[in-house]
Amino acid sequence: MISKATHIADTKGLLGMLPTIEAPSPDYLFIATENARCSKSEIFIKEGDHVYLGQTIGMRHGAFFDQPIHTTCSGTFVGIEKHYHRSGKLVPCLKFLNDHLDEWDPSLKPRTQEEIDALTKEDYVEILKNVASVGLGGSSFPTYVKFQGKHEIKTILVNAIECEPYVSADHRLMLEKPEDVIEGCKLLQKAFQCTDVRICLKSKYHDLIEVYTEILKRHHGSGITICRVGNFYPQGWEIAMIKAATGIEVETRHLPGEYGIANFNVSTVAALVQAIKYNRPVIERLVSVTGDGIRYPSNFKIRIGTQLAALIDMCGGFNDDGKEKVVILGGPMMGASVPSIDCIVSKTVTSCIILNAEAPKEEPCIRCGSCVLSCPTHLEPQQIMAAVKANDKERIKALKPLTCIECGLCTYVCTSKIRVTDFIRRAKVIAKLP
Ligand code: SF4
Ligand code: SF4
Repeated sequence: MISKATHIADTKGLLGMLPTIEAPSPDYLFIATENARCSKSEIFIKEGDHVYLGQTIGMRHGAFFDQPIHTTCSGTFVGIEKHYHRSGKLVPCLKFLNDHLDEWDPSLKPRTQEEIDALTKEDYVEILKNVASVGLGGSSFPTYVKFQGKHEIKTILVNAIECEPYVSADHRLMLEKPEDVIEGCKLLQKAFQCTDVRICLKSKYHDLIEVYTEILKRHHGSGITICRVGNFYPQGWEIAMIKAATGIEVETRHLPGEYGIANFNVSTVAALVQAIKYNRPVIERLVSVTGDGIRYPSNFKIRIGTQLAALIDMCGGFNDDGKEKVVILGGPMMGASVPSIDCIVSKTVTSCIILNAEAPKEEPCIRCGSCVLSCPTHLEPQQIMAAVKANDKERIKALKPLTCIECGLCTYVCTSKIRVTDFIRRAKVIAKLP
């Protein structure tokens, strides 16, 4: 496999129209013991143990928080194998033989409506910690943290912008599970004691706007509304969305909560229903598999822990077999290339993009300034790249690369086809050094 391609074509419109296929639950499922935010773990089970679906079988440890590890099938723990994770790293994965019975962990009791009504924001924190709820739009940021802020929340923004090309998982979820989206919004209203909930959508998503305009008529007076935002990338970046939806500019090193705003990805909002009503972790998600290197691009509902190779098979395999492929997990702009299809689909994988590789034709920088003009965080990517090449640590720090959101635009617009974002990532690592 080779590096991530820089060319993109917007196939979202067509893919977004394809209904989701329920992928069969595979015979083996794999759960990574570590991820980008948690590099250590302890496992509570041993080889040969029977497991229930949704059972807590370990704990990942990160620098700032711990994260329970859950099963996504009932069956038997058969051992540990290494597979690629969406971070591009080869990581140890717990392997489970699926008994296909889907027996839920009997300790996970559903809540009555009275119990749900009595929940406080602090209860939400505990529940969301226990089910390891994270941003399902790809951020993997722990959801409970957003419930811990001290500031009064006056507006909740539901991010359904899904601004990267190719990615259609949120689009399909909104069309196919509108009741979960609305119910999740109502849970947020109760938890934050805040009625103003705005579902943020690109203005060009006419189908979603039509569907939700109709649905929200049945929830008239609920405080849940549609908020149309711009059609450009990176409109889904939280700072850009907040500005578009509320007019508020969140300054660097400040949090949306300080401005009375809480924002959540729409898939995370829909998943709240499972967590709060049924006490269950996320065990499945929608994933788009697309790109010119795949035979039949499709949207799937998959069991978390499914192997990527199985999804590629379900798409009819590769197009133009024999050509080198680029495999990206996540969107083409912010997603990560993985070096192999021996990869596990974790809960924050929104899409898998398979592209036929193009020979990179990188030229020297001509100082055209396109990368500077495109940067949404007002950085100077060309200067940062030069500082990295010169290994000038002081200059790198002075150019503040840590504010980069890795949107990929500097690479996308580069006249010389330089993978500028890779240099910014390296600069970020160097800037963190003492
Ligand atoms: S990836 Fe490039 S364009 Fe995007 S924020 Fe970082 S430096 Fe700016
Ligand atoms: S866009 Fe590319 S060629 Fe132009 S200044 Fe930036 S790095 Fe150089």
